[in-house]
Amino acid sequence: MEEVVGGSHSVAEFVQGYESEGRLRGFRCPACGFLTATWGVACSRCGVSGLVDTTLSDVGQIVAFTIVEVPTEERVNDAPYAYVVVELDGGGRISGWMPSVRRAEDLALGDRVRFRPSYRPGLQFEKETSAAAE
Ligand SMILES: [Zn+2]
Repeated sequence: MEEVVGGSHSVAEFVQGYESEGRLRGFRCPACGFLTATWGVACSRCGVSGLVDTTLSDVGQIVAFTIVEVPTEERVNDAPYAYVVVELDGGGRISGWMPSVRRAEDLALGDRVRFRPSYRPGLQFEKETSAAAE
């Protein structure tokens, strides 16, 4: 496969990272230490090139979310569910989904969540409290 610089490339690499290794792949700037989940040729903060592959924390907090009522084809049986943006501990912001959250009242900004490796497409998260209670 041809190497493509851009969004789809980063998503494919990212998916490969968590599917084969169960980790959240990220990139660290060797100059300023900025952590990001988004692949790029240069640091989005300081512009230095040569980002280093790293593993991001698998826990974080909700910084944005919405309830998806009309899903994409691949999640047609999952709706409603929450589409979330998570600020990971230590740095890195990624988007994912939470099949366990079906109503806006069931989630709040700042809620603690944990990455849950899954065979399903997309990054799946669950509430950290529910994981601890198991
Ligand atoms: Zn930097």
